[in-house]
Amino acid sequence: MDTLHPMWKVKTGPMFDHARDLYQDRFAAEPEWVIFAPGRVNLLGEHTDYNGGFVFPAAIDKGVWLAGGRADGVTTLLSDQLGEGTAFDARSVMPGDVKDWSKFGAGMAWVLRDFINEVPNINATITSNLPLGSGVSSSAAIEMALGLAFLEAGGASIPSKGLAILGQRCENLYVGVNCGIMDQMASACGVEGGAIFMDTRTLEIVPASIPSDLAIVLLDTKKSRELAGSAYNVRRAECEEACRILGVPQLRDATLEMVLSHKGAMLENVFKRAKHVVTENNRTLEFRTALDEGNREAIGALMHGSHQSLRLDYEVSSAELDAMAETAWSTPGCVGARMTGAGFGGSCVALVEADQAQAFCDEVVARYVEQTGLPGSALICKPSAGAHRM
Ligand code: ADP
Ligand code: MG
Repeated sequence: MDTLHPMWKVKTGPMFDHARDLYQDRFAAEPEWVIFAPGRVNLLGEHTDYNGGFVFPAAIDKGVWLAGGRADGVTTLLSDQLGEGTAFDARSVMPGDVKDWSKFGAGMAWVLRDFINEVPNINATITSNLPLGSGVSSSAAIEMALGLAFLEAGGASIPSKGLAILGQRCENLYVGVNCGIMDQMASACGVEGGAIFMDTRTLEIVPASIPSDLAIVLLDTKKSRELAGSAYNVRRAECEEACRILGVPQLRDATLEMVLSHKGAMLENVFKRAKHVVTENNRTLEFRTALDEGNREAIGALMHGSHQSLRLDYEVSSAELDAMAETAWSTPGCVGARMTGAGFGGSCVALVEADQAQAFCDEVVARYVEQTGLPGSALICKPSAGAHRM
């Protein structure tokens, strides 16, 4: 039986084929659809999304490929990376029922039940070339892929921004991670060839093309996050405390002058966190113009400023992230580099002169390995479209 969509013929590739082969092996049938959901790098605007501020991510050509089809019984999900998760009934699964990685599927089914009459059960196999927990948002990619799979199975659709909001709700309320909206929006709404400037309060998105002579390089420290969850919650609480003192609903509404003039009324850490958020929002707004004009000097200064602010004021960098960023800054071809994602480990992102990108990758990795003894890696990423059926 050939149920393949005609578009499949032109969209094949090793990851696509692999997801389909896994499906055939596990479920002894042809998948009905294959879905791609990208990971993301954030070029600028870190720890601003839960403060109502601005972010500047790009969806990348690395992500999650999901092969799936409708199932008669329960929902069964198999991951190439993490194995088969707990099976569940998409029509009735509740928070707490699923504890292994299949909770991302259970959570998406649970949030979708408010929007479509009946969420059908599916079989799905997933393969991914995103490192897990490395700051490129493998969790949002999984959420978007599974959300689209349930929608496909139900013959339903919702706008990508809506799917992103449901993904965040899944992660906040089912998975139990109190993340902002950036990752899901980037994975759902990415544009080919560009980044997206996003106002996380209004969810307004403005696509911004990346000059074709600049390459995005993802620099993985290979040091996974430690204590990220609890430290993240402390940062969020400190931001809320700053808002109370400043008398604003969110730090988005504060200016640097306001923060500086209230310094004496705040604990030092609260002051530093607020200072990071308001200066990061300003940098993100300025980055729009810098990228648009291809202004190397400004791009570099803003990314550098972001890293230093995250290191010194928000205190979410790590020795490895600092080593990677510093190595990037002093390597030929580098326009700008900084840590990306929540921090405490994970990855840096660099914008690099495209014709020097490969040499840059080789040199940065060699020097990073020599310095830290960790097997760091560098990957040139293409800005990609958001999650879609292939
Ligand atoms: P990230 O920064 O990569 O989003 P998170 O800790 O938010 O890190 O999400 C990582 C989690 O997402 C993993 O522990 C796993 O539960 C889930 N996940 C990501 N990729 C996969 C995959 N390929 N297969 C199964 N689960 C995955
Ligand atoms: Mg995540």
